[in-house]
Formats: sequence, C-alpha cells, structure tokens
Amino acid sequence: MRKLFIAGNWKMNKTATEAAQLVSALVKKVEGLSDKVTMAVCPPFTSLDRIAPLLKGTGVDLGAQNLSDKASGAYTGETSAAMLLDLGVKYVIIGHSERRQYYAETDELVSKKAKFALGAGLLPIVCIGETLKEREANKTSHVITTQLKGSLAGLNAEEMHKVTIAYEPVWAIGTGKTASPDQAQEVHALIRKLLTDAFGKAVADKVIVQYGGSVKADNAKELMAKPDIDGALVGGASLDAEGFSALIKNSIS
Ligand code: PEP
Repeated sequence: MRKLFIAGNWKMNKTATEAAQLVSALVKKVEGLSDKVTMAVCPPFTSLDRIAPLLKGTGVDLGAQNLSDKASGAYTGETSAAMLLDLGVKYVIIGHSERRQYYAETDELVSKKAKFALGAGLLPIVCIGETLKEREANKTSHVITTQLKGSLAGLNAEEMHKVTIAYEPVWAIGTGKTASPDQAQEVHALIRKLLTDAFGKAVADKVIVQYGGSVKADNAKELMAKPDIDGALVGGASLDAEGFSALIKNSIS
C-alpha cells in the first residue's frame, strides 16, 4: 500500500513574505494529516530559508523546484544540491514541463540532475508528460516511454526507491483541463509497467507516481481513487491555504 504524496509547486509565485503567510495558514489546516498523506510545498528558492523553520515539526516537507547538475563553481544563477540541503530541503522537482519547454531541459539533463540530487541526499520528483499535439497524434505511450527511460537513465534500483514520478500531461497544466481519471490511470499503469521492466516489481510497486495537471479540491478524490495514482503535483491550487488543504483532505477522504 503506497502512501499518497501531495506536493504544491508554487512556480514563480509568492514573495518570501507572502510565502511565510501561506505556509503559516496551511500548516494549521493540515495539522495531524501527515500519518495519512505525505505533504510538501515547493516555493521559489528565495522563500526556502524563510519557510523552513515554519515547517519544522508540522508534517509538511520542503521541496525546491530545480537544482543545478553541477556541485559548485562558476555557474551564475544556479543553485546546488548542497545549498538546498543546507536549508532543510528534502524534495526537488526535476524536469518540469515548463523547464523542458522554456529552458530547453532534455531527458539527458534531467537524468544528470536526478543522479546528482540522489547522490547529495535529495529526493527527486521527476516530471514527464506529453503535449496535446503528441496526444492527438497517438504518441502518448511513445513519449512517456522515451521520457521515462531517458530521465531515469543510469539510476539503479536502490536509487529508484527514492524517486517520485509526476505524470503531468502538458495540455492539462494550468489550463483547467484535467485528464479524466481513466486517461490518467492508463498512463500511470504504463509508467508502472515500464518501472517494473526496468527496476523489478518490488521497486515499481513502491514508487510513488503523482498526477499533475489542474488538480483541484473538487477533482482530487476521483483521481486518487485510481489504483496507480499515488498523489498529486499541484500548481495553481496550491497557492492558497484553503484550497490546497481542501484538496489534501478530499484526496484522503
Ligand atoms: C504543475 O505545474 O505542476 C501543475 C500541475 O500545475 P496546475 O496544477 O496549475 O495545472
């Protein structure tokens, strides 16, 4: 039995002051739920330090939205795994479709970052998903297979235990369009099969596969009811405490 994992990806939203207000409100609303659901928030880098102390002992973990594939040095604007760890970060989102689309991140870079994060002690949330054009051309399975294999290249079974996969159809992110529970389950089952083929059943049965794409309080429950959907990566609906806490509660109800 896998424990649901719900993470909020705040993207480039909230100043540090606003982030602290949001977290303070959120932790009160989700108090006592961490036995039933793993929870995390992934604010911008600029808020990590402010938020970390507010999360201590609350059952809500801290995540980052990206990391460098280098350890340190002359890489202007980059943030290393060691810097994140030092701030109390536990999870790191890698290969979000916005990074793939706007910052040209490839499967190869994603796998390098995942390997690097794991080596440093961070837990990667590796994102994959097809575009609308790819879905309409019946290429979803091909795209998911290629992205999953490429993004996890070089990881061994022991490392894979520590990785979360987020299936996020690009056409459903921030658009208000959600994959139907059946559409999502179909891809999640494919991901589980690919993980079984690559890492064995024991590992594949344990890996958390989140769904992401316009998940809200009112559609979370039916998505989470599917056998291979183990949680959610939530963008827009994680930006207010009321909505995000309702989403989390509905997911486990
Ligand atoms: C995301 O960006 O990870 C996401 C799923 O966004 P939204 O929930 O806003 O669609």
